[in-house]
Amino acid sequence: MNQLAQQIREAAREREARLAIARRFSHGTPLDIGRGASMPVAMPDRGPGDHRPYAMSPDPCPRCATRGTLGCQHQKPFEARSS
Ligand SMILES: [Zn+2]
Repeated sequence: MNQLAQQIREAAREREARLAIARRFSHGTPLDIGRGASMPVAMPDRGPGDHRPYAMSPDPCPRCATRGTLGCQHQKPFEARSS
């Protein structure tokens, strides 16, 4: 019983730690749910007619902050290449 209570406390502490990290990286800005809904989930490579450059890294696009792994109107999704 005591052990269970300890596990619950531990889980709560871990969740608080994750929330603190999320808050730190959101820079105090709440998630913009409307923007997320209006944005495409991903913009994959559309083939030869697609003239966007490949993302150089998985980091967010410098112009619209979409993750490089997703791709956006400025760049194709980042592809990790094994060298
Ligand atoms: Zn972009």
